[in-house]
Amino acid sequence: MEKKYPDIISLGELLVEIMRDKLDTPHGEIGAIYRGPFPSGAPAIFIDSASRMGKPFNLSTGFIGVIGKDNFGNCIIEKLKKDNVDISQVKFTEELTTGIAFNQYNSNGSRKFIFAKGAAGDTSPKYIKTEYFSNIKNLHITGSALSISKKSREACYKAIKIAKKHNPDVIISFDPNLRPEMLNLETILKICKPVLETTEILLPSGEEAEMLSGIKGSENACQKLLEMGPKIIVLKQGKKGCTVFTTDESKGLKVKGYKVIEKDPTGAGDSFGGAFIIGYLAGWDLLKIAQFANTAGALKVESFGPMADTSYEDVMLLMKKNLL
Ligand code: ATP
Ligand code: MG
Repeated sequence: MEKKYPDIISLGELLVEIMRDKLDTPHGEIGAIYRGPFPSGAPAIFIDSASRMGKPFNLSTGFIGVIGKDNFGNCIIEKLKKDNVDISQVKFTEELTTGIAFNQYNSNGSRKFIFAKGAAGDTSPKYIKTEYFSNIKNLHITGSALSISKKSREACYKAIKIAKKHNPDVIISFDPNLRPEMLNLETILKICKPVLETTEILLPSGEEAEMLSGIKGSENACQKLLEMGPKIIVLKQGKKGCTVFTTDESKGLKVKGYKVIEKDPTGAGDSFGGAFIIGYLAGWDLLKIAQFANTAGALKVESFGPMADTSYEDVMLLMKKNLL
């Protein structure tokens, strides 16, 4: 029987990404070519990955966010629907266009964004409906949704409160995808604090771990973060894979990345996060969860666009091959 309310929920910005088709091509270069649209937005990439990876476990997913009544919005909705994400809580607005991120890749690995926010920051506490959280097992929060607007931030805080009320054992996962060049450090720490206090699984990059803990060196930073609330710190390390810190494993369990040729790195972290949560909800041991999430992240960077099309079976097959 189809479940009425989702097991896994995320919320925040829905975007399309449009990227330069050649490296080092400035956004200002007149007449140069862009490629896209590709459905995006960090919390949406997470939920799409969780939905594809959670299918064999019958784990259902849902998203809360806002798009414009335009073709860009439709292309996001079509992708989420195809991957079985419940979109009943995605609102359409007449007043704004769907959010757009224009991305320029550079040969030194850096990226440059122009961000047309549109409806992406319009997620609001009034869209957080209590009954939607009736079945909640995991709520995923992102730094991007906390920072894009005050109402989006308040929506995240409200979602945490309601999720906890429905299920005191709900797993709150948090990807603090914020960088000091986007927002000043003091503000970042202030807006992340209430989330960190309730987080069970924190998914930072090295730079984010250093920033949140105030400690230099990503491993020391993750050890410090363990003292700040979260039970599990998952340090994402690009092609090197990840290191998982818990109180039992405070030196960190290092898990090697899966080797692929990188075509487009955007969305790897969120695809990894969605897969990690599924392994955790499935009750696997941390090593298997990390190998699974590494493989999902690696498969994502092999294809264009932030949301991959890979299935649970694709990821499993490659993960097993890699372990032979
Ligand atoms: P994002 O660009 O989405 O913000 P992030 O910085 O949060 O990403 P990354 O460490 O870049 O996260 O990637 C997440 C995971 O994806 C890594 O831990 C790794 O498992 C996998 N991954 C990323 N890049 C590669 C790569 N080039 N080769 C193999 N695996 C990769
Ligand atoms: Mg990265």
